[in-house]
Amino acid sequence: MCGIVGYIGPREAYPIIIEGLKRLEYRGYDSAGIALFDGNDLKVSKTKGKVADLEERSDKEITKNGSVGIGHTRWATHGVPNDVNSHPHISNSGDLVIIHNGIIENYESLKKELISRGYTFKSDTDTEVLINLIEDVKKQEKVKLGKAVQIALNQVIGAYAIAVFDKNKPEEVVIARLGSPLAVGIGEDEFFIASDASPFLEYTKDAIYLEDEEMAIIRFHKGIKIRKIKDDSLVDPYIQKLQINLEQIEKGGFDHFMLKEIHEQPKAITDTYRGRLLRKEAIIKMAGVEDNMKKFLNADRIIIVACGTSWHAGLVAEYIFEDLARVPVEVEYASEFRYRNPVITEKDVLIAISQSGETADTLAAIKLAKSKGAFVFGVCNVVGSSIARETDAGAYTHAGPEIGVASTKAFTTQITVLTLMALRLARAKGTISSSDFRHHLLELEMIPKKVEESLKSDAHIQAISDIYKDASNFLYLGRGYNFPVALEGALKLKEISYIHAEGYPAAEMKHGPIALIDENMPIVVIATKKGHYEKVVSNIQEIKSRKGKIIGIVTEGDVQVKELADHVIEVPETLESLTPLLTTIPLQLLSYHIAVMLGKNVDQPRNLAKSVTVE
Ligand code: GLU
Repeated sequence: MCGIVGYIGPREAYPIIIEGLKRLEYRGYDSAGIALFDGNDLKVSKTKGKVADLEERSDKEITKNGSVGIGHTRWATHGVPNDVNSHPHISNSGDLVIIHNGIIENYESLKKELISRGYTFKSDTDTEVLINLIEDVKKQEKVKLGKAVQIALNQVIGAYAIAVFDKNKPEEVVIARLGSPLAVGIGEDEFFIASDASPFLEYTKDAIYLEDEEMAIIRFHKGIKIRKIKDDSLVDPYIQKLQINLEQIEKGGFDHFMLKEIHEQPKAITDTYRGRLLRKEAIIKMAGVEDNMKKFLNADRIIIVACGTSWHAGLVAEYIFEDLARVPVEVEYASEFRYRNPVITEKDVLIAISQSGETADTLAAIKLAKSKGAFVFGVCNVVGSSIARETDAGAYTHAGPEIGVASTKAFTTQITVLTLMALRLARAKGTISSSDFRHHLLELEMIPKKVEESLKSDAHIQAISDIYKDASNFLYLGRGYNFPVALEGALKLKEISYIHAEGYPAAEMKHGPIALIDENMPIVVIATKKGHYEKVVSNIQEIKSRKGKIIGIVTEGDVQVKELADHVIEVPETLESLTPLLTTIPLQLLSYHIAVMLGKNVDQPRNLAKSVTVE
């Protein structure tokens, strides 16, 4: 989730790298760093903070000449954002330098092995382990840098985009990718390396995008050689002509960050369960839960505190924790909880959910619960954030930076983490059978593919949006697991289109909101095959009798709702407990398209802010 930039050629590398990092800052902004070779020596400057902080620091720290260099903006996964954990990282000998985007999952065992051979580590990162592994291989096997990188990467589990060079052979930069993007801009006897093409667009429109499991050795005056990491076979470079402008690429080709983030969900969910959901071994590995299993098992109840979209994720979690792990759950708005003298005991577990990890009310609720002796567990996206530091333990969502103010991928990745926790707990308590557990793992693993499928309805949803964009009210209905999704769908619409919308449990409609229904009222009804399907179908009949306009979110192949509804949007079939991860997708797209059609500022809606640090 970080930004990578590199340069090798005749120009001064520093300005190219700094400008490139600024363009990639959307990818991560915990810290930034640069390494240059000035013809004699390696110079490294790095700091916690933004690229602007790096500029200030490097002004004092290093001379800026050199035509080979690499730079990085970090979105920390392993180790808090601080100067030491910032990239680039240098090997023990001081010869090799690396920047890395991704996660080395088996870094702990590799680190132990390296320590036993005398290596020492300054940072808490997985990246420093990788560069020392490369150094170790290079020494042990007496091979060149490229070969050492290849051998090392074959020992690594995880995801990476890396750029490495050796100060003793600075005319050569080695890069590789698996799971994280990496592009090479091809200029006149010069090469630009970057996470996306934005850093080099003004220099060249010729680019090679490395594929997963490919590495490249780039040599000044000699060109680029691409190989498969696994079997060493040579790959013919495919040079693409870029037809994009700077503005577009900063949003990854999407018109808005929100749309980009909606489309990133398959990857974000995969990144979130990566290394945790081990289907073949039929286990879930979550250190924060594992290390505190007693607390969870002895808990009288779980209290979930959150605000906004995170509160909706908490509501979904309530269903799944109670359903699978048979533990009572209460879900609270942090702002209400903290001010109402709640009953909290030492036998409570409090789960705090926040994308930014800085939400002021949630933070205050955590402090209150801790003061009463409860065990507090955090679920947030931003590593090293206040909530991550304040809680007793936690699990990160690995959604990557979320820039659009209306939360999308944070929601689905929060549900992913909470589902993993509920399943792990259910297994420990014996409230789920082994076959049911395996079935859940299999289905959860397939969710990213099914989210991708759901995203294919985009054009259809756009057409529906066009019909209803001028409505002044919307109603969202769902039951069971999909009641919180109805709330979230309504919130999305309100946030970015400023249309009034309400989410309701479908059966509650008769106790009030049904009075609002007439031929002008669009009603989004989540009616997936599982759960209370027949009951929801009856609710749809009731709406139809009052001439409301029905937009049904249904399971692929549905017949019954299709006959009744004005429009249906299909999502693939999955387990009932996992349906929120799919039914949410069309609701995000619906609100997005309506807001765009109304000419609203989708990424920065009025009056809202991304990280709510005031109560
Ligand atoms: N895992 C590495 C770290 O925590 C790289 C993170 C990133 O992609 O920025 O430093």
